[in-house]
Parts: sequence; structure tokens; C-alpha cells
Amino acid sequence: MGTALRLAQDRIEAGSRMHRIYLDNNATTPVLPGVFDAMRPYFGEQFGNASSIHHHGQQTRAAVEIARDSVAALIGCRASEIVFTSGGTEADNLVIAGLVKTGDHVITSSIEHHAVLLACKHLEEMGVAVTVLPVDGRSLLDPDDVRRALRPNTKLISVMMANNETGVLQPVEEIGRIAGAAGVCFHTDAVQAAGKVVIDVKRIGCHALSISGHKIHAPQGVGALYVRKGTRIEPLFYGGRHERSRRAGTENVPGIVGLGKAAEIAKEGLDRGDDQKMAAMRDRLQRGILAQVEEAGVNGEGAPRVPNTTNIHFDHIDGEALVIALDLKGLAVSTGAACSSGAIEPSHVLTAMGLRTNQARASLRFSLGKQTVAEDIDVALGLVPETVARLRELSPSYRRVALSP
Ligand code: PLP
Repeated sequence: MGTALRLAQDRIEAGSRMHRIYLDNNATTPVLPGVFDAMRPYFGEQFGNASSIHHHGQQTRAAVEIARDSVAALIGCRASEIVFTSGGTEADNLVIAGLVKTGDHVITSSIEHHAVLLACKHLEEMGVAVTVLPVDGRSLLDPDDVRRALRPNTKLISVMMANNETGVLQPVEEIGRIAGAAGVCFHTDAVQAAGKVVIDVKRIGCHALSISGHKIHAPQGVGALYVRKGTRIEPLFYGGRHERSRRAGTENVPGIVGLGKAAEIAKEGLDRGDDQKMAAMRDRLQRGILAQVEEAGVNGEGAPRVPNTTNIHFDHIDGEALVIALDLKGLAVSTGAACSSGAIEPSHVLTAMGLRTNQARASLRFSLGKQTVAEDIDVALGLVPETVARLRELSPSYRRVALSP
């Protein structure tokens, strides 16, 4: 083994011995022990192909259908309206590519996940007209803009339920009413809303809704698309007649079982009011940081949000540097920027809200999960202000402001 590789491994090993706090649950969540226990038999003795008619296949078919019931119960639809996919990205692509054809018009927003934005961009290259609507300073879309953007050939409106970076909830019920009145299909990407807020597809009035397993404590690589009965979508894949011919491919049985169990646990949590406890922890973290750090503010302040997310701009510092400095102290959070074409680009969501490039680059997302406890928030409150202060000491722009009369 080369010296550099050995050194890197030593660092990772030393790092993994440290007590670590994970506040990046919008990126992914740990699989809950109950979810893992439910999945375990499907890696071993219950290995059948759910399409086989013998005993082994019957067992796994039953498990897939029980999971379908649980996912349907989480969002208030019929089991037959759930299509299992490989995740949120596939669910988004399936509905967009499956509904829209050359010559159609699609309405979406500037703060969608790239799974929606880039799927729409691809369609645009194939002769589909796409309207990308702006948002206000809190990252909220104005439903009247949706109404005004409608055209005779509008086929689909795709607006997310909760944003992955700010947690801000869009007025999806109002958009659903507009879509219903116009006879247009409405899809909402609920990947960051599922399990965090109550979802009822009938109240939303949507024709399709995406969810992803790994954002609700199921494993990565599984998700689901709700497709309202009577809504015809073309499949992305051709092959077997799985998922009522809407998604060909042998089912990922352990993943689907995990998603079903996670949906069941999420629903129980919402029924118990766990979301309010999580919002209280998130608010304590946010209040505590803002009380100790000057020239900082919440992105999306004043808008309705999911209970687990806060996104804060810490002016005069580089968000990447702050994420790395916090990681070295054992706190995992993420920045509002992504590496694109080798350069660090400010987040399209934060810039669409009107943040300056510097502010977007200086923003951090804190996202809680079911495993987050009060002590994690205490530790974060100890670490964040002192780390921001240390980085600001090195920041020329902060020193200029601090020294000015
Ligand atoms: N949509 C949103 C809002 C997301 O946050 C994500 C993942 O971050 C996705 C879609 C993609 O989901 P997946 O990672 O399951 O493909």
C-alpha cells in the first residue's frame, strides 16, 4: 500500500473513533434498526423472485405487497397507485418522461432538485416547452404565477413539496387546485417532505408524487412514485410486466421491505407528534446559533418549513471551510454549494432566492433525523459559534467590517 493511501486510511480510522454528530439528514439518513431487522430475512432465507409462482416467490410477493400498503398509508393513496423505483431520481424522471411528449408544455420552479430540472432540460432539447418559474426571497412560489404560465398545451406542472436545502414547503394544495381546474397533471417531488409532514395526495390534488427511501431511514436505492388511478404514464424501462407494467425490472425486495417499514415508522411518528418535537430541537439549534453569531440569518425565514431543516448564512466566511472545520471536530453538516465542472458553484436554490453569491457560499444546512437527540444539539451549539468566530478571524472581509467605525 502506498504511503499516501496509508496516511488517508489512518486519518479515516482516527476520525471514526471520534464521537460524531450527524446533522446532514437531508443528504441521507441512517437505516433504523427496526428497518434493518425487517429487511434481514430478504437477504437470506426469503430470497424468492416476487414474480415466481412457487412458495419462495409467494413469500416475497406478500412482503412487497405489505410494503406497498404501508407506503400508500403514509401518503393517503391506494396500494395499486404505488410504483416502486430505485429512488427519488427515478420517480421524478419516470413521471416527467412518462407523461410529457414533444410539443407539450411543462411548468416547474427554479428551486427544484436537479432530478426534475435536468429531466425538464432534457425534454426541452426534444421539443418540449418548459417554463421555469421564479421564487421570492423566502423561496416560495406564487401560485398565481403558475396560473398565468398555463398554456393550452400545458401537460404537466412539477413543483416540489419541500426544498432539500431550505426545507421550505411550497403551497402545493393551491397549485393542485389550479392544475385540477385547468385539467393539467400535477406532480410534486415529496422526497424531503415524506415522513416529516403529513401527506395526503387527495388534499394536495396531485396526480403523481415522488418519495425516496434513504431520506426516511430506509436504505439508499429504493423509492416510490404515486401515480393517481387513471393517469397513464409511459415506462422508462422496457422488460417484464413488473409494477403493472409501469416499471420493468425484478423488484428490490429487501429495499422495498425497508421502505415499507420506514413508512410505517414514519406514520407512527407523525401520529404521535414526533414532528413537533423535532421542530422544537431544530428551533433551539437555530435560535442558539443566531444568539451567539452576529451577521448570520436563516435562509427562508418566515416561510413554512419541514421540522428538521434550517439553512443559515454566516457572512464573511467560506461555507466549505466551515463544513470541513466542523467535520474535523466531529459535526457533519453541509453547505449550500456543489461542485460543478470542477468549480464550487453556489447553490441554485439560494441564488434563486436572491442571495448574493458570497452569502450562498457562506450558507450551511443543518438537518435533523430520527436519531438526533438533545445532546447533539448541545454539542452543535458549542461548536458552531466558536468555529465561525475562528474562521472569521482569518477573513479579510470580516476584519474590514469589524474594524470599520
Ligand atoms: N428530490 C429531492 C428533493 C431530493 O432531495 C433528492 C435527493 O437529495 C432527490 C429528489 C433524489 O432522490 P434519490 O437520492 O433517491 O435519487
